Amino acid sequence: MNSFNIPSAQTELKNKNPRRILKYALENFDNIAISFSGAEDVVLIDMALNIRKDIKVFSLDTGRLHSETYRFMEKVRKHYQIDIELLTPDRTLLDPFVKAKGLFSFYQDSHQECCGIRKVEPLRRKLSQLDAWITGQRKDQSLDTRQDIPEVQLDTAFSSDNKPLIKFNPLLNWSSAQVWDHIEAYQVPYNELHEKGFISIGCEPCTRAVLPNQHERIGRWWWESGNKKECGLHAGNVTTEQPRNKPST
Ligand code: SF4
Repeated sequence: MNSFNIPSAQTELKNKNPRRILKYALENFDNIAISFSGAEDVVLIDMALNIRKDIKVFSLDTGRLHSETYRFMEKVRKHYQIDIELLTPDRTLLDPFVKAKGLFSFYQDSHQECCGIRKVEPLRRKLSQLDAWITGQRKDQSLDTRQDIPEVQLDTAFSSDNKPLIKFNPLLNWSSAQVWDHIEAYQVPYNELHEKGFISIGCEPCTRAVLPNQHERIGRWWWESGNKKECGLHAGNVTTEQPRNKPST
């Protein structure tokens, strides 16, 4: 794995379709997993199972998800007959945080601390065991933070000095419409919240429905500015520069 050549892989995969990128990822790495939370990730699971039956899937259970999201996870588990490993926060970090700041501190001092404990730390624990992971990131999910993502990259946020971590983004060039075309065509399970105006779905207190033609990220951490709208899972996307283009409201 240490000999994995990212520039060469990127040259080979640039602008290839998601199935080709997934196949490459799953053929080159045994110790690889799909990160599952939203509609895009189920499309990845749906495609990946046609390539390899023994795919590994994990999801972050922050303890603050909608009940619809838990039902969605269960639907996916049963539909594909796969295991979904749920990653939960470390109680030794979570308990003192909640005791000191309560359950809604993110509305006052930003989402970073809560996401750090409920999402980033459990993810870091999991990723430290993997050689590569597959995400459902798409460029058009965020004009501020996702425009430059490549098909394959070194995950600078979660690699360590002695253990590089490779990240594959097979759906990067797909639009939301293409994702939903696949969901409809192949009868892929989806979160029932999508029928209630939700597009990008995270934790219940930090997600709300959006109006027609509003950008999907508007519904996430709506009290914060656009260039901060990453929870830390894709921290390498976030720069300190001003947003080049704020989503329209
Ligand atoms: S999305 Fe909101 S509730 Fe969920 S971990 Fe982040 S700040 Fe906490």
